[in-house]
Amino acid sequence: MALSEYDVRSLEELFSGWGYPRGNTKKLLRRYYDSAGESIDGVQVARELKERVLGEMGLRSTRVLTRQEASDGTVKLLIGVGESSSTSKRALSLASATVGASVECVLMPSFRSDRAAGCVSSQVGCAMGCDFCASTKTGVERSLTSGEMVEQFLWLRGEAARLGRRLQTIVFMGMGEPLMNYDNVTAAIRRMAGEDLGAIGWRHVTVSTVGIVPGIDRMTEEGLGMYLAVSLHAPDDDTRSAIVPTGKRYRVADILAAVRRYQAATGRIVTIEYTLLEGVNDSDAQARLLAELLDGGRMHVNLIPYNAIGPGVSGREYRRPSQERMDRFLDILRGRGVVAHFRRTRGADIDGACGQLRERVLA
Ligand code: SAH
Repeated sequence: MALSEYDVRSLEELFSGWGYPRGNTKKLLRRYYDSAGESIDGVQVARELKERVLGEMGLRSTRVLTRQEASDGTVKLLIGVGESSSTSKRALSLASATVGASVECVLMPSFRSDRAAGCVSSQVGCAMGCDFCASTKTGVERSLTSGEMVEQFLWLRGEAARLGRRLQTIVFMGMGEPLMNYDNVTAAIRRMAGEDLGAIGWRHVTVSTVGIVPGIDRMTEEGLGMYLAVSLHAPDDDTRSAIVPTGKRYRVADILAAVRRYQAATGRIVTIEYTLLEGVNDSDAQARLLAELLDGGRMHVNLIPYNAIGPGVSGREYRRPSQERMDRFLDILRGRGVVAHFRRTRGADIDGACGQLRERVLA
C-alpha cells in the first residue's frame, strides 16, 4: 500500500513490524504531506527504512493523466487510480474493470490571491443517478480508498503551490456520493485536516451529500467537525424524486429533520445546494416553498446554475434558466429572510464545473 493509505498509528505499527523504532514516523508522514506527496527526503530515519518505504510502498498509487487549465485559472486533473485493494467479492469481480479507472479533482483559485480551494472525488462514478449530473451516467465502479482521496488532496496542494497559492479548503463535491463511502471519506479527512498531517483543519472541509439520512445521522453522532452541504434541488418530493432518484427513499422532510439534528449537535450552518433547472424547479412557488421549509433553520442556500451535460440518465435534457429567472428565485428567498447566494461557475470551459466531472475510460 502506498504511503497515502497510512495514518501515524498504522505506519508506526508497520515500521515496528519491520523491526524499526516507532519514533519519527510522524515526522516522516509530516514531511510527505508538507511536500505535497513528492518526497520523504531529509527526514532523520534509517536510510534502509526510507528505501524500503520508497521501494515496497511507494509515495503514491495514483498518477496525473491529464491537466487542464481554464481561462479563469481553474485547474482540472484527471487522476488515474489502480485496482481496488478491497477484497470484497464485488470488488474482486470488478477488479479487471477497474484497471485504468480515473477520477477528477479540481483546484479553484480564491478571490484572495494567495489561496485556493480544492474539489475532490469520493468514488469512481456514482450510483445516485441524479438526472442532471454527468458523474452518474455510467453508474458507480467502486469507492475510492482513503489514500486515493488523500492523494487528490496532495496533487491539488502541489498545483496550488505552483500557482503561489495555499490550498485552504477542500470540498467533497467531485464524483461520487461521499456518504456511500463514509469510512474511507472520514479516514481521508482525518489525515487532510488533522494537525499532525495535512493540517488544513476540520472547519475547512465540506462534505456534500445527495441526502443519505443515515449518513448525516452518523456525522451527527460522531461530531467530527467538518461542514455539511445537502443537495436538495427541490422543496417537494414529487419534483425532487423526478430528478434525484434517492428522493424516493429519503423524503425532503426526513432530510431536513436530519439536517436539524446535525445543527443541534454541532451548531454548524448547513449549506443547501440547489441546482436551477429551467421549468423544473425554478418557479416562484417553489422558491416560496423552499423559504418556508428552511424557516428558522441556520441554513444557507447555494444556488447552482445548471451546467449543461447533454441528456441525463433518463434521456431528458435540461436547461439553465435565464439570468432573470434565477435572480428572481434568489430575490424571493432573500425577501423571506433566507441567506442565499449563487455559486460562481468556474472551469466551465474545461468541463470542470459542478456536475460535469465524469469518468473517461482510457484507451
Ligand atoms: N453526491 C454529492 C456530491 C457531488 S455533486 C451530492 O449530491 O451532493 C456536487 C453538487 O453539484 C451537487 O449539489 C450536485 O447536485 C451539483 N450538480 C450536479 N450536476 C450538476 C450540473 N450539471 N450543473 C450544476 N450542478 C450540478
